[in-house]
Amino acid sequence: MEKTLVFVLNCGSSSLKFSLIDSQSHDEVLSGLGDALGSDAPLIKYKYQGNKQTIDLPASATHQIAVDTIVTLLADLSLTDAVIAVGHRVVHGGELFTQSVVITDHVLSQLEQLSKLAPLHNPANIIGIKAASQAFPSLKQIAVFDTAFHQTMPEKAYIYALPRLLYKDHGIRRYGFHGTSHLYITQQAAAILDKPQDDINIISAHLGNGASVTAIKSGKSVDTSMGLTPLEGLVMGTRCGDLDPAISQYMIDQLDYTNEQVNDIFNKKSGLLGLSDISNDCRIVEERAEKGDALCKLAIDVFCYRLAKYIASYTVPLGRLDALVFTGGIGENSDMIRTKVIEQLTIFGFEVDAQANLSARFGKGGKITTTNSPIAMVIPTNEELVIALDAISLIEE
Ligand code: AMP
Repeated sequence: MEKTLVFVLNCGSSSLKFSLIDSQSHDEVLSGLGDALGSDAPLIKYKYQGNKQTIDLPASATHQIAVDTIVTLLADLSLTDAVIAVGHRVVHGGELFTQSVVITDHVLSQLEQLSKLAPLHNPANIIGIKAASQAFPSLKQIAVFDTAFHQTMPEKAYIYALPRLLYKDHGIRRYGFHGTSHLYITQQAAAILDKPQDDINIISAHLGNGASVTAIKSGKSVDTSMGLTPLEGLVMGTRCGDLDPAISQYMIDQLDYTNEQVNDIFNKKSGLLGLSDISNDCRIVEERAEKGDALCKLAIDVFCYRLAKYIASYTVPLGRLDALVFTGGIGENSDMIRTKVIEQLTIFGFEVDAQANLSARFGKGGKITTTNSPIAMVIPTNEELVIALDAISLIEE
């Protein structure tokens, strides 16, 4: 096999997503998930040449054991020699990283310093980097940051109205996330609309379990809904998004919640799950809403209203809007959510084409508005491909 593959690794605290991307054909040659790491029954699931397989790992298996098992798998499938780099998704690059980098000992120590900004994410990313460095000692490891694309935001968009020292001495500001996805959407939208990337103005709504919306002017992020952490902004699967900041103090002082409980509620028990009292899975909430469940209907209404308000507000920095783009599991697949959002944007002239909106589901993508309307479209995202292509461009430098 030709030497064209990039091993892409995305480590969470107890899981690990991986794929092998062909940097020339852009195909995903293999994809998989290491799940329940550290538990009694960890396992690896993977898909190769259309076949799905599972490998059971020993109880309490670590990220290192999972990565070593994947390396053995690649050898068994005679793929190892074709791998030329390892690309890592790293959640927080702070202000230190405005683009992807080759990981050195110095970069690793910078990532460790940044862990305080993303204590749930960066430590897991670092574990993955160390495990992959041991497993592939001769390959370059590349870090691709969720925050990097948003480093072009002007200060008026990223600064919070807090005392200056909290930013200057402690780095408290809006960083934004999902940057790899918003960048991919920008590149694809430019190609679809046949415009140079530096002349494209879009609003990109990445709606998955995590959700964020970004205003992109002249191909650059100028505002985004996530903040210091991925908790701010839109209603998400289990995250609350925007709140009155006094709510946490009220819960602690008046209702006897602990700090940890408040954090857990805001991050893991809110959003669609909290509102619906049923599920964080948008498909389930939609099905129940269609059957008349009042709380599920409310959950969908709040999700769509908040998103529509954000989209409307992002016309302020853009001036001209070339397209509104939906992506992510919900954005790509839910015609109902897209309709409900666009229906609240008629002031801008948006009008859904019902048939096109249905046809755009399930990975197909395409324009979903009528000819007289401003353009809204669906573009399936591909973060792994951005990571692979960045890795290739850095090892070729
Ligand atoms: P992601 O995090 O991008 O994988 O997206 C996960 C979210 O996409 C979950 O809330 C899913 O319920 C949602 N999703 C996937 N397929 C559909 C669908 N056909 N309709 C509505 N939501 C969907």
